[in-house]
Amino acid sequence: ALPLVAICGRPNVGKSTLFNRLTDSRRSIVGDEPGITRDRIYGQIEWAGRDVRIVDTGGVVPDDEALIPSEIFRQAQVALEEADAVVMVVDGRTELASPDMELARLLLRGGKPTFLAVNKIDNVEMQNAAQNFRRLGFRNVMTISAEHGHGIGDLLDAVYEVL
Ligand code: GDP
Ligand code: MG
Repeated sequence: ALPLVAICGRPNVGKSTLFNRLTDSRRSIVGDEPGITRDRIYGQIEWAGRDVRIVDTGGVVPDDEALIPSEIFRQAQVALEEADAVVMVVDGRTELASPDMELARLLLRGGKPTFLAVNKIDNVEMQNAAQNFRRLGFRNVMTISAEHGHGIGDLLDAVYEVL
């Protein structure tokens, strides 16, 4: 089986935007797979000649803050079971919130390679915002703008190194 990378994080941080940017023209591969719940969306990408599967754990879950923490934690558990690497996405425009800390703790304990993607860093002036999120304890911290495509290549390079 191809290696699988899971995208985790609470609602509205930009998981689906990242997923869509990564999968790009390969949306046709996204779809239902047998035995897989519809709340996770799978895709396949090629990077530097390698095929990798990615999963948006946000799937079709409504962006309802009331789903925190149960749903994101349930998704994170599944991700830890099935994925070879996990990318946790946070919103770099917000303060570091307790659900982020709890999710980070769960993911870092999971024994899989983990990466923190501080998203919505749309310009260099915002780079400092990422510093707050270092407290989450990830060794690998990348700043990205899923919307504008910044930092995505570096993120992929770092993730692929552990697959
Ligand atoms: P999800 O709930 O984690 O899947 O988040 P979405 O991908 O649906 O994004 C939530 C909102 O954040 C949307 O309005 C996106 O357009 C916005 N967003 C996502 N990535 C970025 C980014 O890099 N920069 C900015 N400024 N907004 C973003
Ligand atoms: Mg989503």
